[in-house]
Amino acid sequence: MSTAYVLKIAEPEARRAEISLEADTRGAASMEARLPVWTPGSYLVREHQRHVDGLRALDQDGRPLPVEKVDKHTWRVASSGARRVRTNHVDPSHAFLNPAAACAFFVGREGEACTVRTEAPAEWRTWVALPQRDGAWHAENYDELADSPFEMGPLTSHSAHSFTVEGVPHELVVWGRGDFEGRRVVPDLARIGEALAAVFRGLPFQDRYLFVVHLNDKGRGGLEHRRSAALLVPRFAFVQKSAYEDFLLLAAHEYFHLWNVKRLRPVAFTPYDWTRENHTRLLWAMEGFTSTYEVLALRRAGLITPQRFLEIWGERLTGLQRTPGRLRTPLAQASYDAWIKHYRPDESTPNTTVSYYLKGSVVGFLLDLELRRRSGGKRSLDDLVRLLFERHGRAPGLPEDGVERAALELVPGLEPWFERALRSTDELDLDAALSGVGLRAVMRPSAGPEDKGGAEQGGKDGAPNGGPRAWFGAQMKERGGGLEVQSVVEGSPAQRAGIGAGDEIVALDGFRTDLKQRLGRAVPGQQIRVTFFRMDELIELRVQLTAAPRDTVVLTPDPRATDQQVRLRASWIGAPWPDQPPGSA
Ligand SMILES: [Zn+2]
Repeated sequence: MSTAYVLKIAEPEARRAEISLEADTRGAASMEARLPVWTPGSYLVREHQRHVDGLRALDQDGRPLPVEKVDKHTWRVASSGARRVRTNHVDPSHAFLNPAAACAFFVGREGEACTVRTEAPAEWRTWVALPQRDGAWHAENYDELADSPFEMGPLTSHSAHSFTVEGVPHELVVWGRGDFEGRRVVPDLARIGEALAAVFRGLPFQDRYLFVVHLNDKGRGGLEHRRSAALLVPRFAFVQKSAYEDFLLLAAHEYFHLWNVKRLRPVAFTPYDWTRENHTRLLWAMEGFTSTYEVLALRRAGLITPQRFLEIWGERLTGLQRTPGRLRTPLAQASYDAWIKHYRPDESTPNTTVSYYLKGSVVGFLLDLELRRRSGGKRSLDDLVRLLFERHGRAPGLPEDGVERAALELVPGLEPWFERALRSTDELDLDAALSGVGLRAVMRPSAGPEDKGGAEQGGKDGAPNGGPRAWFGAQMKERGGGLEVQSVVEGSPAQRAGIGAGDEIVALDGFRTDLKQRLGRAVPGQQIRVTFFRMDELIELRVQLTAAPRDTVVLTPDPRATDQQVRLRASWIGAPWPDQPPGSA
């Protein structure tokens, strides 16, 4: 028994795909076809069903059958015999079909094999990470199909590249134009793949892997799959240094998901429930550790320097320090609430919750250092993720306390550490973890809006006349000559004065020129008159500026570090850092 799908792109200009599924349903009184409400990896109920129109059901002779919609995601076809349900799905112009969002399944038959054929204009090709036999792609079951996106289109709008990791074929297909250059990018991806495979001492599959890259004007994101990943990348992300680093981090992130979240899955995702939210408190480990390893991968692949490696961690610690919500929502809770919070941000999000990507990656970074410190360098995060993968990398999946239990086996006594990091809103203990590798976290005020932390000098901004900088405490976007407030930081001068998200600042001290620059030149203690529109009403408030908080983190070597700490630092970073010990000329 199997379900046969046909993905048909008859008129690409119409931006729609016609998708049919066919199964032998003799013996059943009625049959229900259902489309998932969400896509694994993106924890939001998206109601894919709203893109479906023109659904029809036919019997084996092509005669229409009655169809009744029984809930928001299910259609019931009443009659016996073989039948076919057809859905139309709105999609991008080059046809990128994510089956979880496009292909319905017959309820109760998700475990059966699926075959997929494509019908498209003659010059089109199809890229998908499924095995192909007899002109059709084969998936073991619906879950595997749902996890195998199809990229389709002519070679004139794509470039295809191949490489190997651990001898296994990998393919990279790029859609869209920009400054992508295969001969430079492909070897870097191969090095990232090798670095991550080394953590697990091999790849979890032997057939092949597919990267699909979509170049676009501004978006950045990715979605992991079992044997592939889809990356959305800015067109000109491959030459400019920081943009390229960001692309490599994204690619490493999705690749690490091969193990972490695609195979090592929380019990709550095993199997996926396609009809509703699938809650877990483990996203801090699923997305967090993955975000830790994106940085480790770039360092181990030799794509960033030791200095840059530590700067990235300084930037992330700074990002966390500038998120007041870290003091309101514990990390495990933020994971659980992903569906209603992380994927539905609003102006209060930074003040009320914390990203399980950001804090999770910092927790992974600190846990790595704690494991190394407490074991005298014998254990690391590599041992933990490898143990988790070996033990829980298949059904029934990773229990909610599985990460902590495994870590305790490697290094005892971590219970209070996990309690603080995951279930409290206390600040993370940086000092102890960093001391193990002879580093210190230095906290200083931001040097200006461009200062992300991590670096000594604080970017190109500087405090006026070398003095302390004033703090206003609002995220603002330039709009029509004024500044629109996006969000206001908890406890900041702007919040205390009554400024709120949505306010459109049009003048400071009665003038509208150079708003941002004048705010940047203000000094602590200065009072400024802020004039703004709120829902079309002109309002004026006085804001008493204070000194900028010490929320900017730089990691520096501890001059008193012992030889053992310096040795652990070098083995962690993969090279001595700094090159010469401080003080020696
Ligand atoms: Zn991810």
